[in-house]
Amino acid sequence: MAATRTIVVAGAGIGGLTAALALAAKGFRVVVMEKAERLEEAGAGLQLSPNASRILVDLGLKPRLAGRAVTPESINIMSARAGGEIARLPLGEAASFRAGAPYWVIHRADLQAALQAAVNEHPDIDLRLGCQFEDVTAHAKGLTVVQRRGNARQQELAVALIGADGIWSSVRHHLFPEVQPQFSGLIAWRGTLDATALPREYTSARVQLWMGSNAHLVAYPISGGRQINVVAVVPGTWNRPGWSAPGEANDIKGAFASRWPATARMLVNAVDEWRRWALFTVPDFGEWSAGSIALLGDAAHAMLPFAAQGAGMAIEDAAVLAKALGDSAGDNTAGIPAALKRYGKSRRARVLQVQRAARQQGRIYHLAGPLALARDLAIKTMGPQRMLARQDWIYDWRV
Ligand SMILES: Cc1cc2nc3c(=O)[nH]c(=O)nc-3n(C[C@H](O)[C@H](O)[C@H](O)COP(=O)(O)OP(=O)(O)OC[C@H]3O[C@@H](n4cnc5c(N)ncnc54)[C@H](O)[C@@H]3O)c2cc1C
Repeated sequence: MAATRTIVVAGAGIGGLTAALALAAKGFRVVVMEKAERLEEAGAGLQLSPNASRILVDLGLKPRLAGRAVTPESINIMSARAGGEIARLPLGEAASFRAGAPYWVIHRADLQAALQAAVNEHPDIDLRLGCQFEDVTAHAKGLTVVQRRGNARQQELAVALIGADGIWSSVRHHLFPEVQPQFSGLIAWRGTLDATALPREYTSARVQLWMGSNAHLVAYPISGGRQINVVAVVPGTWNRPGWSAPGEANDIKGAFASRWPATARMLVNAVDEWRRWALFTVPDFGEWSAGSIALLGDAAHAMLPFAAQGAGMAIEDAAVLAKALGDSAGDNTAGIPAALKRYGKSRRARVLQVQRAARQQGRIYHLAGPLALARDLAIKTMGPQRMLARQDWIYDWRV
């Protein structure tokens, strides 16, 4: 296929792989450059709400995810202060039917493996592992993208470059070097455990969200229900970049040792091996593109995890990007900068709204004292259906 139809995607995370499939479905040849030698587990579980799962279903991924993704029956909101459940938001088949797509909880590695298998089977996608995006220059024929594999450099002629290379994005640095991720003062700890290690009533298909003073805890089944994913978010000063630094189990166990109900402590104590990552965000910086280069996913808008939408927004970005380029580019490369601008413009407002919602949700989860009491009462008064309806603007989104 001619270079006039080649798009380079830097990064083979959830965003980059989804973008590759969506762009190939619009008739582009896609080269995906991924610096890692292997795509392997990083970050454990993900919740994917219908706004994101709908796109994956449309890309034909449902059969590949069968047996791996779990559809939870409910989100159980638990209060550490009250010591138990304060609301149960119904999900399951009824909610999937209503939203026209499932709510899934899934191991990140399972989703990435399904995306990678689909990418590998696609004749127009060339996934290059162990290839780092290094540089790009623009000229009359489009872009020359430089990749590095070990000491060897190789060039690729392309009509567009998409930076899906995560929060520490090199592509973003190339375009907007002044933009720096900001440390939130929060650290996410995560671990998985074998479902058989817990009493059965704690391993059913549901998302447990425990809200406590200055901390929260989330647990849900992944890998077809064989494992339980546990994530605890607490304040801290350790702020090294990365997804998977080992964490000292006693530190996180200590944070939950007092004033947390027995069930929450049991979940934390049951995990043997903890990984931690410092939570950074990318502040809004206006444009997401310059010329024929655009950003996608965490590279453009890494957010706090409280709305469980970071990967969801990357998946939405991929679908909107492919539509914008597919609609306007044809064989004419002159239309690409305008299409990328339209993509960024149409995504930015929604992503800002979701980022704000995530921040606000975080503050609510971590309330202490009388404010936590008021929160618990407000949630009870509102009731599960109204609580769930508050998410409609996120879940009902369509390309
Ligand atoms: C605690 C926590 C819980 C979360 N839970 C959820 C959730 O429930 N639901 C949800 O939707 N989101 C969740 N998220 C957010 C989600 O994990 C991220 O938003 C999402 O993974 C971002 O995907 P991405 O493809 O943009 O970036 P990444 O997944 O970071 O992928 C970037 C890729 O680019 C590669 N790369 C980097 N530099 C280069 C280079 N120079 N050349 C080539 N390749 C390069 C990297 O190796 C990597 O593979 C959570 C995040 C955290 C921290």
